[in-house]
Amino acid sequence: MSNEDAHPEFALPEIRRDPVTGAWSILAVGRSRRPGAVPGKVNGEPLCPFCPGNESLTPPEVWADRGQGPPDSPGWKVRAVPNLYPALMPEAGGRGWRRGGMVGRPAHGEHEVIVNSPDHGLSLGDMDAEEAERLIHAWLQRYRYHAAQPQVKQIQVIINHRREAGASLEHPHTQVFVLPVVTRAIRDELHEARQRAARGCNICAAAREARDDGRMIYENESWTACVPYAARAPFEVRFIPKRHDPDFAASGKDELGGMADVLTRVLKGLSNLLGNPPYNLWIHTAPCGGRDYGCYHWHVEMVPRIIIGAGFELATGMFISILAPGEAARQLRESMGIASEQ
Ligand SMILES: [Zn+2]
Ligand SMILES: [Zn+2]
Ligand SMILES: [Zn+2]
Repeated sequence: MSNEDAHPEFALPEIRRDPVTGAWSILAVGRSRRPGAVPGKVNGEPLCPFCPGNESLTPPEVWADRGQGPPDSPGWKVRAVPNLYPALMPEAGGRGWRRGGMVGRPAHGEHEVIVNSPDHGLSLGDMDAEEAERLIHAWLQRYRYHAAQPQVKQIQVIINHRREAGASLEHPHTQVFVLPVVTRAIRDELHEARQRAARGCNICAAAREARDDGRMIYENESWTACVPYAARAPFEVRFIPKRHDPDFAASGKDELGGMADVLTRVLKGLSNLLGNPPYNLWIHTAPCGGRDYGCYHWHVEMVPRIIIGAGFELATGMFISILAPGEAARQLRESMGIASEQ
């Protein structure tokens, strides 16, 4: 039975399957209560629940990187709390349902917020390598924790940078969606990886091809950043770890350091080039649950939100970009002070 009839304030979130497309959607009516997410004001200024000193405005923390002090007090460097307006909830239990084509299940899972740093104005691209590595270490800790829970199928880690990219709070933060289904994006990527597995990994190959094709932006010992051949938007970037592994959770210290370096450098370049544009950034990694996804290669993607997708994108799932990927890579390299293709 769906919980649709419950009072919307108390309705638990659901995952529903569209019988025409087969795509899953989450119905989380509780999230509509999310104001500009401003719980109070001081001197007319919104009171930020993610700033140090305001810990009581969030649910109790579930994890923190802190030197000293008790939980839910200042002194932390990175802090993880449950989302106040979750799209998935541990309480959403029980069985799925099917009434004709109306197929759904409780949105059992978790929806967590990781506050990237105590600094209200410090985005990932503004961080130094040490700060970024600390944040990525927090992602890894929370990822491993959730991946070890039963029934978890996929963990989606994302950053929405600035309101125009969907952030309801300005203070830089990461969201972790712990899902009981595998999403279409990961299914599609797994399908492609398996299709050509006999010829080797498609993502390892994509990194090599980007180098030969002038789409490489930057590389260090453990990571490469390139503009994809079929980029969906101007300045879309794919960040690829050089070691082939399906699973973000298997990352070692060197890879985290390399990841901090590549993300901060490229995001700084993007910010220099376009004046701190809004973007979405996410990790794509293999589903949880122990099956063999050996052909898959985990990675990070970033899409700047500088052109607004319209009817064509919704109608087709196909994007129209207006900048050649090689030219986007060239401009990003230039803004990072990398003169020409090596
Ligand atoms: Zn803040
Ligand atoms: Zn690979
Ligand atoms: Zn991907």
